[in-house]
Amino acid sequence: MSTRFTGTFTQQEPIPEDGIEAALAVLRHGRLHRYNTAAGELSETALLEQEFAGFTGAKYALAVASGGYALGCALRAVGVKPGDKVLTNAFTLAPVPGAIAALGAQPVFVGVTEGLVIDLEDLEAKADQANVLMLSHMRGHLCDMDRLMAICTAHGVTVIEDCAHTMGAEWNGTPSGRFGAVGCFSTQTYKHINSGEGGFLITDDAEIAARAVMLSGSYMLYERHLAAPGPEVFEQIKYDTPNVSGRMDNLRAAILRPQLRALPEQAVRWNARFHTVEDGLRGTPGLTLIDRDARGRFVGSSIQFLLLDWAADKVQEVLRRCAARGVELKWFGGSEPSGFTSRYDSWRYAPSQPMPQSDRILRGIVDMRLPLTFSLEDCALIASIIRDEVGAVFQQA
Ligand SMILES: *Cc1c(COP(=O)(O)O)cnc(C)c1O
Repeated sequence: MSTRFTGTFTQQEPIPEDGIEAALAVLRHGRLHRYNTAAGELSETALLEQEFAGFTGAKYALAVASGGYALGCALRAVGVKPGDKVLTNAFTLAPVPGAIAALGAQPVFVGVTEGLVIDLEDLEAKADQANVLMLSHMRGHLCDMDRLMAICTAHGVTVIEDCAHTMGAEWNGTPSGRFGAVGCFSTQTYKHINSGEGGFLITDDAEIAARAVMLSGSYMLYERHLAAPGPEVFEQIKYDTPNVSGRMDNLRAAILRPQLRALPEQAVRWNARFHTVEDGLRGTPGLTLIDRDARGRFVGSSIQFLLLDWAADKVQEVLRRCAARGVELKWFGGSEPSGFTSRYDSWRYAPSQPMPQSDRILRGIVDMRLPLTFSLEDCALIASIIRDEVGAVFQQA
């Protein structure tokens, strides 16, 4: 009965051999800076941008130092100024409100539904408070993007998508990141492709793209980009766009290019793991699985469930019992932020109004990573452990 899981929830797969080879080639020639190219050479970073634009179908792509940098760069590129308000999700991770606060702007939090997506009623009610929405597709849950875009268009709200958890995901056949004016991605170790740190920004808007390239620290070397607008667009903005350095380098780009090519197959592997856990949890008394809209296609790199309306000490007991059997669960309901879990009322630099309906959901959210180093057997074992322990605590209640 008391089987234990012995895998590591933070262990990703190694960098693929072709990525290691490409990284060694960069180390051997020494031209790590993206604009440091030999005559006729196209940098790994420029090629990666071209490939990422192709992967998402965007006109323009910029590789940057982190996902958080991409978010801040996007806010600046669409013209957010200190003191402006920016709508964003109550359920997201700290770099999202952090990017807004870093500009001296102020987050206005929008609630979360039982489907773990942004509450579109609440968005509609708050849409007149800001000109920009930074929409976080938190943990890969995509809301009804058609309806969201209709609301934002009607209220003149520019959308920036935080796709840190949706690289490779789609809504109704359109890739995540392609609905808003800008899509932002992360290539940090715990996301879908891994360069330690890194990120992307995509857009179809030539002026936003040019501003983002200048912001990222291109000096006047923007002609070395392969997924940026022409020099005539830079002529318009180059004197009034500050340099806020945050470039990608060729070493990380070299590591990422093979991973980007492999992402569609990796997504299939992630989803097999996700469905194995989800199937194993289905029907557990007291545990609510998250309904997903069939129009969305996600990448199951993590799984969430709700222990809705459970007392905090009972949730903590489940976490303790699962941890004792090697299963690491994270909880968004804790009174203090811990690890990567925090929520809108933890970010005290950003004033917020209480949101009782969202609080009820946040108090119930349990979250678990699913690295690809787990086998399908591991996933079945993990589900059976959670099922046992949730069941045992639920019965006592
Ligand atoms: C990781 C993450 C980011 C930012 O990415 P970094 O590359 O770590 O800066 C943004 N939003 C969400 C939801 C994330 O999980």
